[in-house]
Amino acid sequence: MNSKQEFEVVVIGGGPAGAIAGRYAALRGARVLLLEQKKKIGIPIRCGEFFPTAEELEKIFVRSQLVPELYHIRDDLIAQRIEIVRVYSPKGSSFDMPLKGHSVYRDRFEQHLLEEAAKAGVTIQMDSRVDKVQNGAVYAKGRIFRPQVIILACGPNRNLLNPLGISVQKDIAICVQYLMENVKIEPRVVEMYYGNVSPGGYAWVIPKGGDRANIGLGIRRRFYDQNILKLLDEFIQSPSMINKTACGRKISTIAGLVPVNGPVRKTVIGNIILVGDAAGHVMATNGGGIPTAMICGRIAGEVSADHVRQDRPLEDYEKQWKRECGREFANALHTRKRADFVIYRLGWAAEILMRLVGPRVISRALKCAFVGP
Ligand SMILES: Cc1cc2nc3c(=O)[nH]c(=O)nc-3n(C[C@H](O)[C@H](O)[C@H](O)COP(=O)(O)OP(=O)(O)OC[C@H]3O[C@@H](n4cnc5c(N)ncnc54)[C@H](O)[C@@H]3O)c2cc1C
Repeated sequence: MNSKQEFEVVVIGGGPAGAIAGRYAALRGARVLLLEQKKKIGIPIRCGEFFPTAEELEKIFVRSQLVPELYHIRDDLIAQRIEIVRVYSPKGSSFDMPLKGHSVYRDRFEQHLLEEAAKAGVTIQMDSRVDKVQNGAVYAKGRIFRPQVIILACGPNRNLLNPLGISVQKDIAICVQYLMENVKIEPRVVEMYYGNVSPGGYAWVIPKGGDRANIGLGIRRRFYDQNILKLLDEFIQSPSMINKTACGRKISTIAGLVPVNGPVRKTVIGNIILVGDAAGHVMATNGGGIPTAMICGRIAGEVSADHVRQDRPLEDYEKQWKRECGREFANALHTRKRADFVIYRLGWAAEILMRLVGPRVISRALKCAFVGP
């Protein structure tokens, strides 16, 4: 049997988008191969590892059908349950917003998603870097696959995306993060700091259980073009952080990219479907992309299988993710563009504005609701 007959759908990337897309395509009866370049899934971790509970996500994505994987997160995958998000203005005023969520062990979480994909029938090949996608075919380490559908879930990988005319790198956040221990933090509170601590983005403290936390920040180059790790060190030693971090020890350092310019113009190109970070499926206000990668991953998987089995047009994928989360992506981008102007161009006005609008509006903005004008 040649590879064309064997695999009807090839998924590139085994992150949350790819794992879920593969699983749902297989559950609908497609023969699915998933190619992942890493030797061990989820490692290295490049993530703050926080996302809201399914119950909170239901209120954010009111038209979306969430995947069961977001409702039933096994206890051993959760590092810490979160109840409050605390936002700090540029001058240090703080606003508490109730939001239930969890910080997960991202490596175990991804391994779990891939195990579920394998149980559904997906063939998973690790250490399988895809070199290019061309003329509807996938080239990986000397092998060529010609499936009916290619699901590109490769994150913001410019080598695969740019030749297709897709750029998620136009406006991308560059992030660095330390996992620290022996820090003094409130275990159920995620903190977000805006202003010069992190130009064009924000800095975060995400509790990881006990005395551990992910402490990081994201910037955008048009707001800041210097050493970002130095910026993180300055943040950790800043007056607002020093009480928490004075005795802290760094366990690991990570860096990564988050596309924050909203979804790309086309998410279906010939027999290729883009999903997750590859499609810009990230909430532009906060850089969170795990839940949306999973929601859109399910749609990608189901439409692909229906295409293979019943000739359903692949374009239905784009229509459906737009129906389920398009408005929220657009709201988030709208808010982020206004925040760029107010926080990073007007500075002092941001302080006044954040105090004026208060936690209710800030919370709406973070949750991708429309915030005028
Ligand atoms: C520092 C940082 C902190 C973040 N914090 C959060 C957070 O707290 N909460 C949140 O919701 N989101 C967060 N995000 C964003 C979140 O990680 C992404 O939105 C999410 O991982 C998107 O999932 P994905 O499956 O689309 O892409 P990814 O998780 O990036 O998965 C892509 C996969 O494709 C593989 N791949 C890439 N190229 C190839 C190739 N050529 N061949 C084979 N395999 C390939 C990669 O190895 C990877 O496993 C953060 C991102 C960063 C960088």
